[in-house]
Amino acid sequence: MKDCLFCKIVAGEIPCAKVFEDGSVLAFLDINPAAKGHTLVIPKKHFETLAEMPDAELGKLAIAVRDIAKAVVKETKTQGFNVVQSNGTAAEQEIPHVHFHIVPRFVGDGIGMRWKRAKYSSGAEMAGLAEKILKLTENERR
Ligand code: ZN
Repeated sequence: MKDCLFCKIVAGEIPCAKVFEDGSVLAFLDINPAAKGHTLVIPKKHFETLAEMPDAELGKLAIAVRDIAKAVVKETKTQGFNVVQSNGTAAEQEIPHVHFHIVPRFVGDGIGMRWKRAKYSSGAEMAGLAEKILKLTENERR
């Protein structure tokens, strides 16, 4: 897609520090890393959000995220890693091309990924919401 930063990286118009590439996936180091080894994993085809991705493309991407995360952990000798994936402006997605962040983590590294927690007004509210999402998810999977 024209004017998409990540499509330009896929096309080789913008250089990257590549850590993996196959027919459908590209992974490279984030230029503004939360930690050394912070990696972005993207589909080569342009999809704005996860919701648009066909099963086969998403499957390949998810497997690549797992394999690359294992390599990042091994090389950076970290104790853990976060996988972060954002969809839409409200979720602070900055580049509108699906991407997974792999962030290497150490205990006490101060990176911080804490959420401000919300509360349900009752158990019934929570159960009702769960039931509605369950039905919609079943429809999505048909
Ligand atoms: Zn793109």
